[in-house]
Amino acid sequence: MPAARRRKPLTRYFAVVSVVAMLVLGAGLILVTTNIMRQQALREGTEAARSVESYATADVPVEAFTTGVLEPGHALQVTSSVDGFADRLLGLRLWNNDGVLVYDMKHATDAFADGERLDAAILRGEPDARLVGNLERDAGSGGTEQTVLDVYVPVQVDGTVVGAAEVSLDYTATAAALRDGSRTVSAVVVCGLVVLWLLLFRTVLSASRRMKAGALENARLALIDSLTGLPNRRMLMDRMSRSITAAEQHGTRVGLVLLDIDRFKDINDSLGHDKGDELLEQVASRLRNALRDGDVVARLGGDEFAILLPDVRTIENAERLAHRVRSLFGPAFQLGDLELHVDTSIGVACLPDHGDDGSSLMRKADVAMYTAKTHRLGVAVYSADEDNSSPARLVLLGDLHRALDQGDELELHYQPKIALATGETVGYEALMRWRHPKRGLLPPDLFIPLAEHSGLIHELTRFALTTTVSQLARWRDEGRELPVAVNLSAHNVTSAAVVDTIEELLAEHGIAPELLSVEITETALVADPSRVVPVLERLAAAGVRVAIDDFGIGNTSISQLRDLPVDDLKIDRLFVADLGADGRDGSGVVVKAMVDLAHSFGLRVIAEGVEDASTARLLRKLGVDQAQGFYYSPAVTADALADLTVDVPRPRQAKPRRAAAARATATVEPAARS
Ligand code: C2E
Ligand code: CA
Ligand code: CA
Repeated sequence: MPAARRRKPLTRYFAVVSVVAMLVLGAGLILVTTNIMRQQALREGTEAARSVESYATADVPVEAFTTGVLEPGHALQVTSSVDGFADRLLGLRLWNNDGVLVYDMKHATDAFADGERLDAAILRGEPDARLVGNLERDAGSGGTEQTVLDVYVPVQVDGTVVGAAEVSLDYTATAAALRDGSRTVSAVVVCGLVVLWLLLFRTVLSASRRMKAGALENARLALIDSLTGLPNRRMLMDRMSRSITAAEQHGTRVGLVLLDIDRFKDINDSLGHDKGDELLEQVASRLRNALRDGDVVARLGGDEFAILLPDVRTIENAERLAHRVRSLFGPAFQLGDLELHVDTSIGVACLPDHGDDGSSLMRKADVAMYTAKTHRLGVAVYSADEDNSSPARLVLLGDLHRALDQGDELELHYQPKIALATGETVGYEALMRWRHPKRGLLPPDLFIPLAEHSGLIHELTRFALTTTVSQLARWRDEGRELPVAVNLSAHNVTSAAVVDTIEELLAEHGIAPELLSVEITETALVADPSRVVPVLERLAAAGVRVAIDDFGIGNTSISQLRDLPVDDLKIDRLFVADLGADGRDGSGVVVKAMVDLAHSFGLRVIAEGVEDASTARLLRKLGVDQAQGFYYSPAVTADALADLTVDVPRPRQAKPRRAAAARATATVEPAARS
């Protein structure tokens, strides 16, 4: 490949061109100026010669020129008439038209005229001036160069040229003055040009520096995240493709670790964007300080960061690093006066194990991060099982189709909801399970996302609603009436078809709408409000309660919910877990603020994921209305529910907070949890 031609730096180019231009300009200026000076001096000399001629020939009779003989008397007159020019006049000769010497100031008799010049002066009638150098012996100083201006001035009598006067003038002083003058001119021109050049050069230099700095800054901005100063996605992708090329050559492994901050949007919304930015900066600096030199930490945007491991020996090493990175989030972040604990979900993928190019590696790490988040694992390595587009998932999807057709593998389990004020069971949440013939009992996280991606979710939801309403009818027949909540997916709530289904089912089984409620995740609610809100309004009109599920991990602030037609707010179990003995400081304050705000909007507050008595007590103190969690009972089959009793700590005054809570109650004992 031919070497790319390198462009000369602007300053060097300018220096070369401008120096050449300045030299030409300077030389030209000096030449022209000295020439003008010289011409001027010559003109002056010629004028002087003319006046010498006019004085000298004033009294010379015309015959002297025709005969070529000047009377001695006239000659004396000529000599005396030019006395006034003695200081400059070195010689004076008069020639007639034939070149005969008529008069010589130095009394020579056999001199010869310069015929050519004489003819020229006579024929043109114009003086002919020429400089002649001659060495004059001077008594004192040995010998000095003398410059002589020799001028042939035509002599005219009555308009006719009769001869010429050869006037020799001492031109030494003028020549010296001319030399001085041109030296001065040269000096001035050279100095002026040097100064001008320096000024220009300085301007060009600083302009070029500014341009260079600007270009560098632009390049930097294009590759660097302006908030944290970390490389951005573009730079990461560039580094990644280089690392991949190197890894392919050397047979090594490239690791990619993706992480995002849990509940970042919530922090941003409740504390303000300044604090959010501050948190991101602190996260960036913790990451930067904890990694090896070769590893690249980048911010991909929002609260998402990536770490590229250009040369990692094993997947386990990458996973270990991910755990180390997660432990960086252990100590609280100090945002002004506020100590904030934040957690992160991390996904790990390696090349060539999980992908073979930059974008697939990125996607796989993203899938892993999503797994870490949904299963709250902290760190997850990519697994095809969790990847909706992997072959394993396609097999599972086929199985799910079959399961829906046959209808005997899917089940609903019910988890009790407890009124914290009374300790009584006031309802259930229906949670789906899949009794897979080969893989055993599968939790919904393993197949609901798959169903959502493939469009099967509508059938799954219909199954959940049908099963629940039938179960409600069965319980009613047994004399038990407790409301059950069914989870709806984001895909279900963008069209009112689900409401039609609900209304049909309720009518078919003669079930009161208050006995059925739906749970919709916060993210689903705010994803497409223009389509979701009309569905919510129809649900409200049908008398079905709506709960916001997993509140706190999504992107909504409570105030945004004020305008939504919802009834219940379910605080995500991440917040609830933080309230526990080894949870985080200050989380009680967060939950308290949530509860108060939700109550002020008339929402009922339910806490999920309650795993111990102390958390339950704390939640009651914070004003939470209902709770659900392993502490009371996991989700169990409808049959198992009949035998279930939960014994919850009695509140000091067992005063029901709401009339509705007392409508139907059951007492259950705490779940025996391993
Ligand atoms: P979710 O709606 O937030 O359901 C609560 C999840 O927390 C359930 O997980 C439940 O078993 C679990 N859980 C309950 N108490 C505790 C506790 O004390 N500690 C902990 N760590 N976890 C507790 P599950 O059954 O695996 O369901 C996971 C998610 O799958 C649900 O989250 C829900 O979003 C979705 N899902 C479940 N059934 C359905 C369904 O029929 N339709 C749709 N669309 N989604 C469903
Ligand atoms: Ca739920
Ligand atoms: Ca939930």
